[in-house]
Amino acid sequence: MKPVRERTQPPARRPVRVIVRTARPLSPELGQRIRTYLSEALGRPVAIFFEHDPSLLGGIALQVGNTVVDASLSRSLEELRAKLADHLRAAVMVSAPGGPGGVGLSRETLRSAIELVRSYTPAPVVEEVGTVIAVGDGVARVSGLPSAMAGELVAFDGGGEGMVLDLDVDAVGCIVFSGGDRIVEGTVVRCTGRVADVPVGEELLGRVVNPLGDPVDGKGPILARARRHIEGPAPGVADREPVNVPLQTGILAVDAMVPIGRGQRELIIGDRQTGKTSIAVDAIISQKGSGVLCVYVAIGQKASSIAQTVSVLEEHGALPYTIVVAASASDPAPLQYIAPYAGCAMAEHFMYSGKDVLIVYDDLSKHAAAHREVALLLRRPPGREAYPGDVFYIHGRLLERAAKLSRERGGGSMTALPIVETLAGDVSAYIPTNTISITDGQIYLESDLFFSGVRPAVNVGLSVSRVGGDAQVPAMRELSSHLRLDLAQYRELSAFAQFGADLDKATQAQLHRGERIVEVLKQPNHEVLAVEEQVVMLFVLSGEWLDDVPVDQTRWFVREFLVHVKEAYPSLMRRIRETGRIDEVRGDLGRALDAFKKDFAGVMGRHAESA
Ligand code: ATP
Ligand code: MG
Repeated sequence: MKPVRERTQPPARRPVRVIVRTARPLSPELGQRIRTYLSEALGRPVAIFFEHDPSLLGGIALQVGNTVVDASLSRSLEELRAKLADHLRAAVMVSAPGGPGGVGLSRETLRSAIELVRSYTPAPVVEEVGTVIAVGDGVARVSGLPSAMAGELVAFDGGGEGMVLDLDVDAVGCIVFSGGDRIVEGTVVRCTGRVADVPVGEELLGRVVNPLGDPVDGKGPILARARRHIEGPAPGVADREPVNVPLQTGILAVDAMVPIGRGQRELIIGDRQTGKTSIAVDAIISQKGSGVLCVYVAIGQKASSIAQTVSVLEEHGALPYTIVVAASASDPAPLQYIAPYAGCAMAEHFMYSGKDVLIVYDDLSKHAAAHREVALLLRRPPGREAYPGDVFYIHGRLLERAAKLSRERGGGSMTALPIVETLAGDVSAYIPTNTISITDGQIYLESDLFFSGVRPAVNVGLSVSRVGGDAQVPAMRELSSHLRLDLAQYRELSAFAQFGADLDKATQAQLHRGERIVEVLKQPNHEVLAVEEQVVMLFVLSGEWLDDVPVDQTRWFVREFLVHVKEAYPSLMRRIRETGRIDEVRGDLGRALDAFKKDFAGVMGRHAESA
């Protein structure tokens, strides 16, 4: 016969872990009462731990498994403080909508604040928490937090802040933005229900901020009235419009041969120290007076280089319309990782309010490296060059947010100039090929050119702009149509001519012309040119005026002529600026140039005699 198994009592259950925190130690009797109450209320045995934590000030906080019931005095005070701060901020915004200038609290505001405090009744807060199981190098693994969302901000006990990046079955991977030194194994972590966001708006213009939007320039707090999520969807096809307005960089070689339009993404690529940053900074300087706002995102650079760039912007009066987002090489990798998204959110705010914005990401190679560091620490599987599999996606989703919006969406635009560094000119490495395929063209800078004195060192053969040509000013388009070809042929022939071969007349003429083009396109950094100045320079190049000017005098000749036209024919310059065309002024400009050349020949002659 089968034995009958009788069950006399229910099976034993695993005790639930409970932490009871109070400001002062509890008496043994009270402790025993709490224990009995909890095991009855929970219907199972409890493993209870009493902790004595003076920072609670009073009251009690219970942690049962992953849930915390916080009825402490410190929590209530914190809640009241936040409510009061929101209340006062709202009152200040209403009373001084123009900004922070000379804000005082009105009697009415104070009265309502006192009423708010009086009517406040503290209630226990029930929330889900997790615990840190491993932490280091700006990354923390947290157990618990079953309902955490990807991209959600989390708060660490003791004041740290971070963001959820990885959602695993039994734990989440977080990156830590601040307070990393106070986080240890066992630190309690809370979800905030907020997705990472930054302050946005005009209040940030002229300021240097970190990727969290906090000022780092010592010019006081930023009273921004709006915030925006750092990650967001890119505008869809229906919201976009073709690029049709030029974005002048003020650099002749770029504006003539690799023109950029508003809403375009143009990569600046080259080896280290080839003038990449200079091109982007010049583009920002060139936006002065054009109404285009700028955001410069510095990622992983030396703090001194960032300071240098900021001072250049300030010197040229470009800071008032620029936001600098700085995550230097000494900042933790997670901050460097979110920097471009934070800058993009700030730019997006302007774009969606109908403005034109230029954003520079300097540079995305270091951004990819920061992302790789974070990903390896989070133990994601490494792929090619040890980058994680989504490195293409992180840049794609960033650059896709640059756009020219349709008229219905306000007509704003965001032009992106990402910068990527190559090693020994290798554009087929992983990050360069990725970014080349995401963008609408690239400005390729070459160290050989840079060191031979051709600066900006734009390699015309390898530089392209897939959409900007449509947006080019008509006069520029007309005058520069042959430039690219002439220059490319010159480069080819000059390599050949080095062998000292006998050259025919046509080849000699091409070399002769190429040498002069190269000279005219040389341009010191931070000396940006207006469109009409560029048109005049291209006009000089378009004819045969330079053919008998010695090569070493070419730049001087063109610059002097430019000064001369600006002084003697201001109306001519204005006409070019206003119409963007050359046809009407072609005759006048030609005559002015003939006359100038005669004088110039005289000067040259005297110069030669005295030498
Ligand atoms: P890095 O790889 O360090 O970021 P980079 O490629 O950004 O360097 P820059 O910092 O822009 O290069 O420039 C390097 C140096 O070349 C600087 O000292 C700068 O002043 C000089 N330079 C850049 N452009 C020009 C130019 N057009 N004419 C003369 N000097 C220039
Ligand atoms: Mg640089």
